[in-house]
Amino acid sequence: MEALPPTFDNSYARLPDHLYSRVLPSPSEQPQLIRVNRGLAAELGIDPGWLASEAGIQMVAGNALPPGADSIAMAYAGHQFGSWNPQLGDGRAVLIGEILNPAGERFDIQLKGSGRTPYSRNGDGRAALGPILREYIVSEAMSGMNIPTTRTLMAVSTGMPVYRDGRTLPGAVLARVARSHIRIGTLELFAARRNEEALRALADHVIARHYPEAAQAEQPYLALFEGIARRQASLVAKWQSIGFIHGVMNTDNMLLSGETIDYGPCAFMDDFDPVTKYSSIDHAGRYAYRNQPAITHWNLACLAQALLPILGLEQEAAVEALKSILNDFAHHFEQAHQSELNQKLGLADSGAESRQLGADLFQLMAEQHCDFTLSFRRLAELANPETVSESSLGISSLFEFPDTFTPWLERWRSLAGVGSEAAKPRLAAMLNANPVYIPRNHRVEAVIKSAVDQADFGPFQQMVDVLKKPYEYQPGFDRYATPPLPEEIVQATFCGT
Ligand code: AMP
Ligand code: MG
Repeated sequence: MEALPPTFDNSYARLPDHLYSRVLPSPSEQPQLIRVNRGLAAELGIDPGWLASEAGIQMVAGNALPPGADSIAMAYAGHQFGSWNPQLGDGRAVLIGEILNPAGERFDIQLKGSGRTPYSRNGDGRAALGPILREYIVSEAMSGMNIPTTRTLMAVSTGMPVYRDGRTLPGAVLARVARSHIRIGTLELFAARRNEEALRALADHVIARHYPEAAQAEQPYLALFEGIARRQASLVAKWQSIGFIHGVMNTDNMLLSGETIDYGPCAFMDDFDPVTKYSSIDHAGRYAYRNQPAITHWNLACLAQALLPILGLEQEAAVEALKSILNDFAHHFEQAHQSELNQKLGLADSGAESRQLGADLFQLMAEQHCDFTLSFRRLAELANPETVSESSLGISSLFEFPDTFTPWLERWRSLAGVGSEAAKPRLAAMLNANPVYIPRNHRVEAVIKSAVDQADFGPFQQMVDVLKKPYEYQPGFDRYATPPLPEEIVQATFCGT
């Protein structure tokens, strides 16, 4: 069978032209394939053989777009670390088009690291290999854990150097897939410019694409805001439940679709400590683990501000309506978070006892410096003792709770019904709620180092493969499950720029 390129549609490029700039990706001199995500290609209805072919590589490298692509850089602004920045936009990325998967769902295909655009400011529009590999690993690991996220379809090296902090590094391009790349900062840009026409076109587009039920509401833009707030509450609850720290929760890095985007200085926690932060530029810890829900709320307040002019209500009534949705956020977050926690702990309900049990666990984990991921996984094993045998010790050989946990474990066993026949399905589900493998920061760094310093991509390929099945204990791969030794701890994670 002949390999065929994807068929593109370009609904965003048909919107008013204030929203973007038409720009072609810059070519790459000597592109080489790093990895094709065949599974994702198949889900999208893209021929994986074509992607891996010379033509596919040339597309991602920016050298030859297939017919039907209409490449644009999207305009946006945003609040970065709390300060307004009126001038952002895709400075090193282009949206080459959208495709419809076999179920008719629409996805953007964007090239990241594809050269300068009108929004590049002083940047070179390029990406270094390290951040591209980080995004590939972490975005696909998030997807493996069923967290809404942008995904990675493919990565190529460009054969061209990029210069960062006095170092010469290999360059790379990533093909990113998202339900859309429309950010809180996209709406903020047009609100700041008082361009209500663009604002409305954008909001209508987002409703049609992501919140079709809002179109039926009496106040569609309020219903849109409520839908976005709900998805954001659910998303940040999921992040908290796996110890994920985003690192740059600026409003330009928050997608209206509710998917996680921007895997720059992100990382997963090892030892549980609520004040953990990784980003080297986040001096004040604004985006530390424990602040993530409150920051989501803060970002939604920015979105509310941007929607205000198009609600068609009197100022006072509009503010009240938006406020009341914002005020529900804490409740929705708590509910979503407790529901995640119930699944992780095998609990049947969210009553006061369950909530207290969860709170006490976090307190103990923090006091005892327990590894976040292994603590939860060990509970899943304790609830399902048959998964551990003499031939496969599971993670029991890597982690055991200290004695101080004994009273808590007793309470948990009793509330979760460990050992009872009726609780079995609920307890078995714990094995699919508590991963064995997360992309641990020290492993990500080691994989990047091999690729950048030795051009050895073996560790990268292996890590991506292991993380595809995060809930399945894979004998022989304990190094991906273990926390860093003291000397392996990564002190700061740098921005992807
Ligand atoms: P980020 O920190 O990745 O969220 O990026 C913030 C802004 O800087 C966005 O507008 C990016 O497009 C832009 N940017 C980041 N890196 C580069 C680069 N190397 N060249 C041009 N623009 C960039
Ligand atoms: Mg960004």
